[in-house]
Amino acid sequence: ESQKSGLSAAVDLKMGLPHVTIPKKLPLIVVADGVLLPGSTIRIPVTTVKNINLVRSRLTSGSKLASTIIGIVTKEPGKESKVNALHEIGTAGVVIQVTGTNWPRPSYSLLVTGLCRFRLQSIIQEHPYPVAIVTQLDDIKDITDENDEQPTELVSEFKEAAQKLINLLDISVPAVAKLKDLVERVPSRQLADVVAALVRATLPERLQVLDAIDVATRLRVTLPLLLRHIQRLKDVREAGSEEGNKENRIVHISRGGRNLLPDPDSLDDSENEVAELEEKIKATNMPEEVHKAAVKELGRLKRMAQHMPDYSMTRNYLDLIVELPWSITVKETCNIRKAREDLDADHYGLQKVKRRVLEYLAVRQLRGDLKGPILCFVGPPGVGKTSIAKSIATTLGRPYCRMSLGGVSDQHDIRGHRRTYIGAMPGRVIQALRNVKVKNPVMLLDEIDKLGTGIHGDPGAALLEVLDPEQNSTFTDTYLNLPFDLSQVLFVATANSLSTIATPLLDRMEVIHVPGYTQEEKVMIGQLHLLPKQLQEHGLSSDILDMSKESIATIIGEYTREAGVRTLERKIGAVCRAIAVQVAEKRRDHDEAKTSEEMITEAEDRDRRTEQHADETREIELRQEVGEVPQQSGINLSKLREHMDLPVIVDPKLIYDILGPPIFQSGLAGRVSVPGVAVGLAWTPVGGEVMVVEASRTVGDSGLTLTGQLGSVMQESAKIAMSWVRQHAFLLQLDKDFMKDEEIHMHFPAGAINKDGPSAGVTILTVLVSLLSNRCVRSDVAMTGEITLNGVVLPVGGIKEKLLAAHRAGLTTVVIPAANKKDLEDIPNSVLNEIEVVLVNTVEEVLQAAFDDFTDILGENDDGVPAKPLPSKL
Ligand code: ADP
Repeated sequence: ESQKSGLSAAVDLKMGLPHVTIPKKLPLIVVADGVLLPGSTIRIPVTTVKNINLVRSRLTSGSKLASTIIGIVTKEPGKESKVNALHEIGTAGVVIQVTGTNWPRPSYSLLVTGLCRFRLQSIIQEHPYPVAIVTQLDDIKDITDENDEQPTELVSEFKEAAQKLINLLDISVPAVAKLKDLVERVPSRQLADVVAALVRATLPERLQVLDAIDVATRLRVTLPLLLRHIQRLKDVREAGSEEGNKENRIVHISRGGRNLLPDPDSLDDSENEVAELEEKIKATNMPEEVHKAAVKELGRLKRMAQHMPDYSMTRNYLDLIVELPWSITVKETCNIRKAREDLDADHYGLQKVKRRVLEYLAVRQLRGDLKGPILCFVGPPGVGKTSIAKSIATTLGRPYCRMSLGGVSDQHDIRGHRRTYIGAMPGRVIQALRNVKVKNPVMLLDEIDKLGTGIHGDPGAALLEVLDPEQNSTFTDTYLNLPFDLSQVLFVATANSLSTIATPLLDRMEVIHVPGYTQEEKVMIGQLHLLPKQLQEHGLSSDILDMSKESIATIIGEYTREAGVRTLERKIGAVCRAIAVQVAEKRRDHDEAKTSEEMITEAEDRDRRTEQHADETREIELRQEVGEVPQQSGINLSKLREHMDLPVIVDPKLIYDILGPPIFQSGLAGRVSVPGVAVGLAWTPVGGEVMVVEASRTVGDSGLTLTGQLGSVMQESAKIAMSWVRQHAFLLQLDKDFMKDEEIHMHFPAGAINKDGPSAGVTILTVLVSLLSNRCVRSDVAMTGEITLNGVVLPVGGIKEKLLAAHRAGLTTVVIPAANKKDLEDIPNSVLNEIEVVLVNTVEEVLQAAFDDFTDILGENDDGVPAKPLPSKL
């Protein structure tokens, strides 16, 4: 008989085990508390990293299941501390089913049928999963011999006992009938294994059966276990009939038989699980309708075999039901004065934002309900949107939870998957509620502008349902399939930009703009908030690390380029980490030598760590290193002082040492010093940006070429600018056919941002005039504004962000449309004092501000003769 067909027959135990020759090299699954015996089938939960590796690379990657034999070895009990303590004898098994879920966390479980014993010779590989050289033990030869043998007395006695066991069971259960069949038909050499797998036994007892290679010994070891089980069943039956609690018994026994689930622990597990769930359902205060559904599902679960995929699905579902906060609310405390104090304590500046938040809270309190609009904070990253939302939660005394919407393009992400779907899970709203454990949290809808639309329905529409006060008291998640009341959740949203938020959603929200910070504001935030926070996170204190304002300003100016303070916070963190490591090293150098015991623990720690992901390790090491500091620094500060000067003064020089060469330097001046270059100001979702626009003339005939990933509006601006220049060629003293045989190439660098919008109009025009008139634009001027064909400058958006960006870049003059004058109210004085803002109505005024010698360009004569010759061609 060929090995292959033999293997597929392995599943059908009635025929007895096939004669298999197992490979010499076997991948190993190491189990902590189970034993697989030949001829039995057990379910093995796969949770350790190595076991998961094995399953992923050997069992789920398309290879045929039946052709995959693996070794199952048990960890030697009582020797947990030793790394490689595996039981010497293991069982080769064939995997007949792999099930996996990704939720609530990834895990697999294997259904494995034991084939034969083997002895471990050597482990030849440890990673990503262990592989061993093995010797097969249950020999094929003695099988054939034995078949001819007359049953010995021991075998007869054993069979008789097994028969007794079966008689005690309810034969009408199909599994028991099958078992009966099994006991009658399997060859006697396998009988002990099959029975030992079925009866209750401890781990050492099972290992003893496994170790009994000789068939007679095996029968002898197993017989007492069998007899003990029979006795126990009798006891149960007596107790059961006394209490009339017969049902219980049948459930217990029949389930054991049906699954051929030999591990009594796992049997107990499933029973415990069901009982536990039942308790929880009773204890959870849920609506009538939900309770009914839960009881019904529990009934289904009770009837299910534990290894069926449906079992874990139903259990996960019930777990969700009992964990959801159906009726748990926290009492809200709303005190406007306290709210103001909280907001002020956590945030520097942001006066306007805080005022709006307080107004909102006050109105809410007066109205006494939640049906108002949803607050939506809009602004670049790192300006404190999330942080304000958290403060709101704190001040109201409600727990905070966050639901990230970035990249969500499937409505099922919000609303959940139908339960019949493989890997189904509830939507994010329900998941967030499950985690936060109360019904009335503050729920942050993060990055609501990044909501996509995919092929699986519009997540925006699903979100609307969540937010709509008319509907959300009976929000029905598809997975849960029961209504959950969301009406008490306080939703707050954040977005980088309003332009991509769908109108119906926008209608539900009250938008609060959170603009970027000025340099001064950032320094203050750094000093008052970020530095103390980072110090604490790294177990340091101001006694150990002292960072001056000047140093913070250096970090802001030379290592960050952002509207918010996120990179700033990270860089401050990096400095703290560097100092913390230094301190930790110093301390270690001077510590007394460690005891050998400590060193062993450390070595073991390291061993454990190598099991984890390689790149995680470094991080963990750092953290541990740093994590050691707090206790020591608190206690031993003076001792530490003996070895190093404290506090460590972080001056700009040290900043360069730690952070490396500066990343950004404003090199604007150098770039603007040729004709055909001007500085524009752009608004992006991540704040204002300074954009250096360049143009050059080359021989060619395609007129105007634009590069730099421009949108169509921007291209049109360029055409309008070009038309204006042509129209005014005479005024600009350009030759009539100045573009003949020439083309102008204009480029908008900083390619990563998509650029669109009309506000680059004035910049494009200035670049053209500069190029064609061969004059440099003033290097300290930046500009923004839309132009019309007739040279009128129209207002644009994002003035505050743009001005802050210009200020960051060290520019001192900013040209903006006169109609934007009102926007200047929002600009902090510290910026206005350092920037001259030129308000313009027409293109001529723009050019006047941009060129020192604009009158020269125009020429002063009115008779139509150019005052100067045209700039030469290339
Ligand atoms: P966003 O949600 O806007 O991207 P975050 O709320 O995550 O930004 O803020 C980033 C970090 O900057 C947080 O640690 C936050 O506490 C801090 N931060 C931002 N603005 C301020 C401020 N005005 N005062 C104090 N800390 C701030």
